[in-house]
Amino acid sequence: MTFDRFGRHINYLRISLTDKCNLRCVYCMPEDMTFRPRAELLQDDEIDRLVRIFAGLGFHKFRLTGGEPTVRANVVDIVGRIAHTPGVKTVAMTTNGLMLKDLARPLAAAGLARVNVSIDTLNPDKFKKLTRWGKVEDVWAGINAAERAGLHIKLNAVVVRNYNDREDVVDLARLTFYHDWQVRYIEMMPFGDVADFQQAGIVSEEELRQTITAALGPLAPVNDGQLDGEASLYQLAEAMGTLGFISSVTQPFCASCTRARLTADGRLRLCLLREKEVNLMDPLRNGATDTQLEEIIREGIWWKPWGHGLEQNVIPLNRVMSEIGG
Ligand code: SAM
Ligand code: SF4
Repeated sequence: MTFDRFGRHINYLRISLTDKCNLRCVYCMPEDMTFRPRAELLQDDEIDRLVRIFAGLGFHKFRLTGGEPTVRANVVDIVGRIAHTPGVKTVAMTTNGLMLKDLARPLAAAGLARVNVSIDTLNPDKFKKLTRWGKVEDVWAGINAAERAGLHIKLNAVVVRNYNDREDVVDLARLTFYHDWQVRYIEMMPFGDVADFQQAGIVSEEELRQTITAALGPLAPVNDGQLDGEASLYQLAEAMGTLGFISSVTQPFCASCTRARLTADGRLRLCLLREKEVNLMDPLRNGATDTQLEEIIREGIWWKPWGHGLEQNVIPLNRVMSEIGG
């Protein structure tokens, strides 16, 4: 088992399979984003080895993200090998859903259990504006395919003022009347080059709940308001699904954090919103043994920062979100 110096048990690894993406969401990366050469990314066998080492250290939940994880070559095989690694209990993925139409079934067969699909609005024009060129109907096709494949589904919406903060939020909430899904509203976080835009566009959880309540009625807290992972959960009367609010900026959940992140270029990122990272790629490529890598990981986790410093205006500038994976 791996603990940090604050006694938090860290057992959930989010792996960015690639920094590349087939969209350019305005809050995530600049339009002219340049990506890393393939050789700088963790190769398939390097991912397999690190997963085995992390699982040996007690990590049991693995989430594949990106960039867009489904644009990584061999993603189905990668999922299959992770799912069959001793100690791994759950393999999940966060995706923009564009490729799920074809990939949901093979991914589920390989061992993927859950998908979080990002869909910020149901309005085709606004979706295009937010993603710079995406078609919302392609995401819908992906969500439907995921449902048919038996994947557990959550929908993620990042809310951006003047883009999707009003009726879009309500339309998404309405989905929970007919589907047993969790629709999650994510507060926008500031990163790297796009930090100014993000800070100007943030919409608080309180405002979102007011908007939804005014349109669809009261929201009842689920589980006495206890966090479900990072989300505080609510439900509309008669709804099948739930609404989650992930308010990393205004209501941080650092005390209950269980996660670490592996960037596409092989750095162990200890907190999403802190620049501190541990380089695993160099030792991996310079002949470190499994025991040496375990020691580097344990030491890194021990020094995991308590939480972010957004209140003190400490904004991570060394990466954009797509390189870390959210
Ligand atoms: N491409 C995949 C997707 O969009 O789901 C996976 C990677 S994406 C970086 C992971 C999650 O981070 C998505 O739900 C995305 O909406 C969210 N995200 C991206 N930039 C963000 C930001 N600045 N603040 C909060 N969430 C963000
Ligand atoms: Fe791509 Fe996901 Fe970032 Fe959008 S949020 S640009 S889909 S990585």
